[in-house]
Amino acid sequence: MFDCLIIGGGVIGCSILKYLSDYNLNCALLEKGEDVGVGASRANSGIIHAGYDCKPGTLKAKLNVRGNKLYEQSCRELKVDFKKIGSLVVSDEKGLEEIKKLEIQGILNGVNVSVIERKEILKIEPNVASNIKFALYAPDAGIVCPYKYTIALAEHALLNGQKIFTDCLVKGIEKNKETFKVKTDQGDFECKILVNSAGTHCMEINEMAGAEVFPVSFRRGEYFVLDAKERRNIHTVLFPLPDEKGKGILVAPTVDGNVLYGPTSIKSLDMDDTKVTKKGLEQIKESIGKTYKSAHIENAIRAYAGNRCIVGEDFIIKESETVKNFIMLLGICSPGLTAAPAIGESVSENIVKKLNSSKKDRSEIVFRDEKIKASALKRRELRKLIKQDGSWGREICHCEKVTEHEIVEAIHSVLPARSFDAVKRRLRTGMGRCQGENCYKGVAEILARELSIPIEEIKSRDSGGEKVLKQFINKYRV
Ligand SMILES: Cc1cc2nc3c(=O)[nH]c(=O)nc-3n(C[C@H](O)[C@H](O)[C@H](O)COP(=O)(O)OP(=O)(O)OC[C@H]3O[C@@H](n4cnc5c(N)ncnc54)[C@H](O)[C@@H]3O)c2cc1C
Repeated sequence: MFDCLIIGGGVIGCSILKYLSDYNLNCALLEKGEDVGVGASRANSGIIHAGYDCKPGTLKAKLNVRGNKLYEQSCRELKVDFKKIGSLVVSDEKGLEEIKKLEIQGILNGVNVSVIERKEILKIEPNVASNIKFALYAPDAGIVCPYKYTIALAEHALLNGQKIFTDCLVKGIEKNKETFKVKTDQGDFECKILVNSAGTHCMEINEMAGAEVFPVSFRRGEYFVLDAKERRNIHTVLFPLPDEKGKGILVAPTVDGNVLYGPTSIKSLDMDDTKVTKKGLEQIKESIGKTYKSAHIENAIRAYAGNRCIVGEDFIIKESETVKNFIMLLGICSPGLTAAPAIGESVSENIVKKLNSSKKDRSEIVFRDEKIKASALKRRELRKLIKQDGSWGREICHCEKVTEHEIVEAIHSVLPARSFDAVKRRLRTGMGRCQGENCYKGVAEILARELSIPIEEIKSRDSGGEKVLKQFINKYRV
């Protein structure tokens, strides 16, 4: 019997599990994917929003602002890269009123924001488009790698005694008097408290539990990923003025040195819709030049899409009124990544109160080790490691300079990487210019050897994004 079971291993479920692992509790997370962070938490912009664009008084505003405050410390603790690079919402002459409205909203939410003019804008971002006159500057916005952060949360929870079951699809829920029986394709699990953080599948889980059902809609967001050489052109997160569909198509660097253009916001009827379409890419291409003068679509190396789940205007985070001890997290769209530590903190506090459990002493908490990256070492340091273990000298991914040693370490880590994509999410193999063409075989061979499975069984997810991107780029290549 588990004290608490969490359904869904995105950034929200993993954050709740991480915060629960500070207590003397026996909890587990059930994830249908082969790894954590494979839903919306894999495919978003990676922006830690400052919090000026949520309506004052909403859960979104409160949790965004608190989440933003917690991120730096959270990433330091989890050994995940975080960069506070600030953000600009830019407009031409006509947009000043809208910018001022955002400023007031930001001030009401307790966010550090100011309206600045072109001269000041150019000091922060020299590559804004020539028509840009005004901007809302939010110095506290940041960037993070969303899936590495999710993996780190999960690993922290595992190191501190909690459990994660991947490839574990929840198929049914039975409520007994004081407990739940959760039926999965790995058998039945029992718990006292059940948390629904199943992302776009949240309403399916509510239905299984017999809890409240709300109307739900989905919006797909497509992106271009640019080659690392574009990183020198962009210094902050650059947004247009928001509209009714969301924050608009942005330009942003990633913590790992690429650049993103996107996302679109396209209505979808499918909760698993992560299609990349030529129409969507076309829309990004048309929009980007309105805010940014250095767009180089020809340097795109990949395209991908994520799916947002929308349930009304605000996040719904509460215990069900019809099913006792069933905690619902519904409609966790943007700024869910930003809010994740604040959601983990507040949801875990409620669970702990219900279970009346005690907090561990800080000295009992186990923290993740910082992993050595061959690409960050000086030649002398790498040579020293190679003398101890030859696998440090076998470079498998030449674009990102990843060695056999690091891949083996990821496969045997506390949350084992068991597919090409799981290795990729941890180490960036296949994320360079060649997009895995040169390293796929090498990584797959190591996976097969280390996991003692035939190489044909090594899984790789293909979203079809690369094919659409190639057709798109060929059309525009001069
Ligand atoms: C295009 C886009 C851009 C975004 N940009 C930002 C941003 O820059 N900043 C920001 O703060 N937020 C952003 N967001 C929002 C953010 O990505 C989400 O709020 C966040 O990732 C939601 O996390 P989650 O854990 O709720 O959902 P998910 O990450 O989707 O996780 C849910 C998990 O539940 C699992 N699951 C579902 N059904 C079952 C089942 N039956 N059994 C077991 N497991 C199940 C799924 O496999 C999945 O892994 C963006 C979202 C999108 C789509």
